[in-house]
Amino acid sequence: MENATPSFFSKAVSWFDTHEQAKLETGHPDQEKWIFPFPFVLMSVSTLAVFIVGFSWFALGVAGFLYFIRMFGITGVYHRYLSHKTYKTSRWFQFALVLLGNSAAQRGPLWWAAHHRHHHRFSDSPEDTHSPSQKGFWDAHWLWWSRRKNVATRTELVPDLAKFPELVFLDRFDSIVPLVMGALLIPIGMLLHRYFPALGTNGLQLFVWGFVVSTVVLFHGVATINSLSHVYGSRRFKTTDTSRNNFLLAIITLGEGWHNNHHHYCNSTRQGFFWWEIDITYYMLKGLEKLGLVWDLKPVPERMLQPQPKEVVRPHEVVPVPALARVRIAGVPGIAGMVPGLTSPLATQANRSPDVPNP
Ligand SMILES: [Zn+2]
Ligand SMILES: [Zn+2]
Repeated sequence: MENATPSFFSKAVSWFDTHEQAKLETGHPDQEKWIFPFPFVLMSVSTLAVFIVGFSWFALGVAGFLYFIRMFGITGVYHRYLSHKTYKTSRWFQFALVLLGNSAAQRGPLWWAAHHRHHHRFSDSPEDTHSPSQKGFWDAHWLWWSRRKNVATRTELVPDLAKFPELVFLDRFDSIVPLVMGALLIPIGMLLHRYFPALGTNGLQLFVWGFVVSTVVLFHGVATINSLSHVYGSRRFKTTDTSRNNFLLAIITLGEGWHNNHHHYCNSTRQGFFWWEIDITYYMLKGLEKLGLVWDLKPVPERMLQPQPKEVVRPHEVVPVPALARVRIAGVPGIAGMVPGLTSPLATQANRSPDVPNP
């Protein structure tokens, strides 16, 4: 009995410790196979609780706000700052920004940045961790991060981030921030219920809409860049991957939908290269620059704004997207099955783009 408490405690801590989880999966013979994504499935199913807690415009507004601000945490912080270093900031504001990114519940800052740098290095090649043309739509959208080999942080790809112990801590215990944020919504909702009953909300309702629904929708919003942005849209630049520019995806991801621009030149803070390419993340970063909180935003080089030669897709390069149908979970339909005749021009992998990033 004496050992029961420490044993339970250490088990509870290790459940939250991504380094401990990675140790279990690293070296496992089934590196390509999935582990059951219990937290994600639990969150997804829990969205049905909206039918129990009911609706209020206030709770919906909080869900929308937390979607918006945490999307910025992913696009403006995890992506444009940690992964690509397209601007600079102070150490304390870096920590504040990373807390915001971490609250999106999309794993830790080092894990995210390392996997993203890997994606740019091997875009749409067999090595790519999430390529719809290689392993199928659903794999690129969300299944990839449940593969055993993708559980661990690829620290070797982010030595510049690993030197900050506070970021390593957040990476190691990456569920603390989102759980605290979610838990805080309950007492806030209870107080609002008591003192501002006209808002029509309460603790549980605010938690379900503001945390559960918002986080699940946010996840799928970000994931469209790995899946849909490599399938649907136009291509301004002849990159050696399948990246596309897509206005709709740029709206829901605050500017990340200009993915072909980004794959061609990933070192600029801005991803919408022209004024009509709406890039809300960039506008927000410009706002932070005006406040003196971030600086040295990297511009889009003039040569990127010149007319580009039309991409010629030769017949042998136009291949169907069988990979979209290559869904490895029985009973889950592939996109190709829903869209008959869907094809995707795939660039040859013979020459990698000279503009792959310099992580
Ligand atoms: Zn991409
Ligand atoms: Zn990127």
